[in-house]
Amino acid sequence: MNFNFTPEEEAFRKEVRSWLEQDLPDDLRGRGFAASRADMEEVKRLRAWQKTMHEAGYVGMDWPREFGGRGAPITEMVILYQEMARAESPQLVNRGGVSMLGPTLMKFGTPKQQERFLTKILTAEDLWCQGFSEPNAGSDLANLQTRAVRDGDHFVVNGQKVWTSMGHVADWGFFLVRTDPDAAKHKGISFLLIDMKTPGITVRPLRQMTGEAEFNETFLDNVRVPVENLVGKLNEGWSVAITTLAYERDLLTFIRHISLRNALHRLVRLTQARGRAADPIVRQKIAQLWIGEQALQLNGYRSLTKILRGGAPGPEGSTSKLFWSQLDQELAQAATEVLGPYSQLSHGAERAPDEGQWEFYTSLAMASGIRAGTSEILRNILGERVLGLPKD
Ligand SMILES: Cc1cc2nc3c(=O)[nH]c(=O)nc-3n(C[C@H](O)[C@H](O)[C@H](O)COP(=O)(O)OP(=O)(O)OC[C@H]3O[C@@H](n4cnc5c(N)ncnc54)[C@H](O)[C@@H]3O)c2cc1C
Repeated sequence: MNFNFTPEEEAFRKEVRSWLEQDLPDDLRGRGFAASRADMEEVKRLRAWQKTMHEAGYVGMDWPREFGGRGAPITEMVILYQEMARAESPQLVNRGGVSMLGPTLMKFGTPKQQERFLTKILTAEDLWCQGFSEPNAGSDLANLQTRAVRDGDHFVVNGQKVWTSMGHVADWGFFLVRTDPDAAKHKGISFLLIDMKTPGITVRPLRQMTGEAEFNETFLDNVRVPVENLVGKLNEGWSVAITTLAYERDLLTFIRHISLRNALHRLVRLTQARGRAADPIVRQKIAQLWIGEQALQLNGYRSLTKILRGGAPGPEGSTSKLFWSQLDQELAQAATEVLGPYSQLSHGAERAPDEGQWEFYTSLAMASGIRAGTSEILRNILGERVLGLPKD
């Protein structure tokens, strides 16, 4: 494992750092910590920020040049994310599009789909949501029941999705639908791109314990989708979806520790500011979190090194997600203990520490062990596929 960045990479770091210092708008600085993607006005500002980043060449940097990227190595991506975290910049608002759908379209999309969608993913002109989960298909995703039936040059889609993050602000969604109900579970699924303004789509926000409604129920009622919006082959959408999810997991493995480090630095400042820095129990907790964050980073570097040497990603993705979600929740708990009753004050309250972002962070952390693979499922994967434990 190589822990050092090359002189060229360090030069790139300098370039990004000074650009962020100059160009990150003041009203977005510091919003990377516990940012909302539910509020329309906030989403508008985040869209404009992604556009600015794109114009400066910092969106989809690892995408090949022919698709609008820079063909940059993954190490530069990692540096970019490190510097964005250091500047407390919000993440890309269209990250599902940039890190999941974009690479999927490059692999499975038709030239027409690539031309129509890729650039607008980078500029955030088209905001994307992911319509995979259903009321009876979460961990068991292949159990999905939303049906698409061919009718001339359209599919007619009926069903319900749930937990569709940003469904209420998205222009487009990438959906999994069942196109052959008689085939085995994983076989009769297709991957469709759906314009969220198509008649028959109803998006109903679900209020979360954070107080905001960032995800939604999405109902599809005789929604007509042009056949040309099918990605990959008919009934072979499962392998397309697996690719989409793998892109998300691989990138997150390298950068997951970064957001955690941001929160940890804030926690240290908070502990000092509130006169708790000499408390041995608080100190011990923070030290444990610090060690955890370092372990997460090294796990990410291990995965990165493997990939740079031409290998395939291993179980680091599952260990990283599982370990990160535990640390995230422990960090939120430590902050709650440091703040005491002030931890309950939310955004807008006069005495809310860090503008109420800790209250938001703590509520959001409850979802860390659920989204993108629950902790139980990850333990099953690690136990059965990595450690070779019996299934039962
Ligand atoms: C913040 C957030 C954002 C999300 N955004 C999106 C999105 O944009 N698009 C989208 O499609 N989905 C999204 N999801 C959905 C997410 O992918 C699912 O919540 C997740 O896959 C779990 O599915 P489920 O909620 O149906 O839980 P279930 O699968 O019903 O699980 C319920 C419980 O049972 C456990 N369990 C289930 N099966 C097993 C098993 N075989 N062994 C042991 N335990 C098991 C689980 O671990 C869990 O504790 C989001 C979720 C969250 C929390």
